[in-house]
Amino acid sequence: MSETKVQKMAKIWEKYDGEALEAFCGDYRNFITEHKTERECVAGMRAVLGKSGAVDLADAISEGIRPKTGDLFYTDLMKKTLIVFRIGKRPLTDGMQLLGAHIDSPRLDLKQHALYEDGDLALFETHYYGGIKKYQWVTLPLALHGVVAKKDGSVVTISVGENPEDPVFGVSDLLIHLAGKQMSKKLSEGIEGEKLNILVGSRPLAGDAKEPVKENILAILKDRYGIEEEDFLSAEIEVVPAGAARDYGFDRSMIMGYGQDDRVCAYPSFRAILDEETPEFTSVCLLTDKEEIGSVGATGMHSRFFENSVAELMNLTGCYSELNLRRVLTRTRVLSSDVSAAFDPDFPDVMEKNNCSYLGLGPVFNKYTGSRGKSGSNDANAEYIAYLRNEMDAAGIVYQSGELGKVDEGGGGTIAYILANLGMQVIDFGVAVLNMHAPFEITSKADIYEAYRAYRVFLASASEPRA
Ligand code: MN
Ligand code: MN
Repeated sequence: MSETKVQKMAKIWEKYDGEALEAFCGDYRNFITEHKTERECVAGMRAVLGKSGAVDLADAISEGIRPKTGDLFYTDLMKKTLIVFRIGKRPLTDGMQLLGAHIDSPRLDLKQHALYEDGDLALFETHYYGGIKKYQWVTLPLALHGVVAKKDGSVVTISVGENPEDPVFGVSDLLIHLAGKQMSKKLSEGIEGEKLNILVGSRPLAGDAKEPVKENILAILKDRYGIEEEDFLSAEIEVVPAGAARDYGFDRSMIMGYGQDDRVCAYPSFRAILDEETPEFTSVCLLTDKEEIGSVGATGMHSRFFENSVAELMNLTGCYSELNLRRVLTRTRVLSSDVSAAFDPDFPDVMEKNNCSYLGLGPVFNKYTGSRGKSGSNDANAEYIAYLRNEMDAAGIVYQSGELGKVDEGGGGTIAYILANLGMQVIDFGVAVLNMHAPFEITSKADIYEAYRAYRVFLASASEPRA
C-alpha cells in the first residue's frame, strides 16, 4: 500500500517538467499574496478577464451580443461573487460543466463601532468570521483590507500592512509570567472572541482631548482616507495575516499562505476556464462568497444569483424559458472545488488511514462531507464518480479519494449540497490542506498543479451525461 502511495506521489512530480509546475504555482503564490479578500479576488479576476477579451454579461445584454463558441462572459454580484461562462460547442440546453469554489476565508471583521481607547491605547473591536481557533490569531502581524462606503456614494479602498514600509497591526496576548490562570483554561477559552481587539495606536494628539490617542487615530484616518468615525457604520474592513505567501520546506515542494481555503481551488478553477478555450459543453467557473458562514446572503451560494445569471445567458442565446433553464441546471455536472484535510503525522488519531487524504497525492474526491452519519452532506452518485474516474484516468491525472476525518470525529461542509439541490451531479474535488483555517495554511505544489490539470480535463470533457 505505502509503496503504491510513494509511487503515485513521485508520478506527479515526474510527469511534468518542473518549469511548468513551478511557473503555475508561482502565479498562484503571487495571487494569494495580492488577493486576500473576496472583493480583491473579484477585482483582480475581472481585470484579467478584461484583458482576455471576456465580456461583462451586462454589456452583452445591453448590446445584444449573440454568444459564439469559445466566447467568455462574466458577471459579479456586489463585487464579492463572480461567475465566468465559456460558451461550448454544444447548445446550452445540453447542460454545462461547472467548477464551483469559494473566495471568502476565515478572518476578523471590524465591528461597526470599531475604534475605542482603553489604557491609553487605541484599539479596534472585531467579530471573527468563519471557523477559527482564536488562540492562533494573537501576536501575529495583521493587515487591514477593505472598503469604507461614504454617504456621498464614494467608496474608499483600504489596504495597510502588506508593503514592507507599511505599519502592521495585531492582537496582544498575556505574557507567560502572568498567565497561570489563562494557561489552565481549555484551549477554546484561553482567548475569547471579545478579546480579539486590534491595537492600532499609542500616541496622543497634542492638546486636551478626552481620548487623545483615539483622537489622533481619527485625525490620521481623516487625513489619509477622508473618513470620519461614523463612516465605520458602512465599512467592511477585514483583518487578515500580513505578508506574502512563501515556498515551504527545503525542497520548496509546498506553499504556506493565508486564505488557501479555498483560493487554492478557486485560482486553478479560474485558470482552467481561461485556458480551456473551445470546450464541448459550456464551462462555468463559479466563485462564491460567504461559504465560511453557511453560504448565506445575496452573495452566498444559497442566493438565486447563479440561476438568474444562467437565465440571462440563455436569453442571449435565444433559448430561455423557465423549463429550459430547469433542464440546463439538471443536466449540469459539477466539481465543487473545495479543500480537504491533509493527513498530519502529529495528529494521526483524527484520521482513518484507509480513507483520508495526503499532501502530494493529487486532488481529493470527497464523495460526502457532513458529520454524524453524513448529515448535511452531498452524497455524490456512484455513476457520476465512475464518469469522473474514467475521464481522469484517461488523461493520466493522479487523484485520491478521502473523508475529512474519522467517523464522528467532527466534520465540515461545502457548497456541493446547494448545487445538488438544483438536480445537478456534484462531487467535492479539491486540494488537501495542512492546518486548514489557521492564519497560514500549507498546500503541496504537486496537488495545486494536478488540480489545475484535472479541472481542465473536466472542462474539456465531451462525454454524454449519464443518468
Ligand atoms: Mn472551503
Ligand atoms: Mn473553510
